[in-house]
Amino acid sequence: MENNNVKDESNYIFDKSMNCPICDMDFKTKQVKTGKARFLGTEEDLRPKYTGIDTIKYDVCMCPYCGYASTIREFNNVTPKQRKLLRDEIGSKYVSMEHNEPYYTYDTAITRYKMALLTAMTKPARGSEQAYLCLKLAWLYRGAMEEVQENEPELPERADYYRELEEQYIKKAYAGFTEALLKEYPPICNMDEMTINYLMAQLAHRCGDDDSAQKFAFMVVGSRNASANAKEKARTLIDEIREARQETRE
Ligand SMILES: [Zn+2]
Repeated sequence: MENNNVKDESNYIFDKSMNCPICDMDFKTKQVKTGKARFLGTEEDLRPKYTGIDTIKYDVCMCPYCGYASTIREFNNVTPKQRKLLRDEIGSKYVSMEHNEPYYTYDTAITRYKMALLTAMTKPARGSEQAYLCLKLAWLYRGAMEEVQENEPELPERADYYRELEEQYIKKAYAGFTEALLKEYPPICNMDEMTINYLMAQLAHRCGDDDSAQKFAFMVVGSRNASANAKEKARTLIDEIREARQETRE
């Protein structure tokens, strides 16, 4: 069982050569092969699902020598001033950790994302970028929880541990995007206005802020750019909130 899993996930990835813009060392990072994993769709909060692999695990690139980490897209996006700051604040304190796994486990991926979050806070990167890292961390904790539920159903307290952390990072993501929306304009993290409103509706609902959830969901329903699918999902959310409110009144 275990061996099969290892073989399967390794089939979807390859080693990509990188050069660190902070310490100038060469290293390899694992990347998902394009076109190999089949896209199954997204969950309510836009978490993408693929066959055979959780691609989110591989979105962060981390230098194993100095600890600098970010999404591949932003990896070389550093100013000389930020380079110095990152060397002083992260590089000098980082203890090199080599992982020789055939693929990234959830725990490894979570560590890499935490380093990316630390990097983003140090730079500092845009608020939306930090919020998006928090959202993806929440997705990773959800994935870790699902994996425990499937492979180790005898350890419910371990699943609960991941569920609680997922919750925490959903809250951080919601707070982060709320603040980012005051200063930034779409597209935000590659999301157009409709997509970000849709995401905010879902995050607000998860955080118990149903007034905001409704406000964002109505913006999606009323948007000319929204797909039929997004409108449908937003309407479902509005109905859910309405029903829940009626139940508490009765
Ligand atoms: Zn480095």
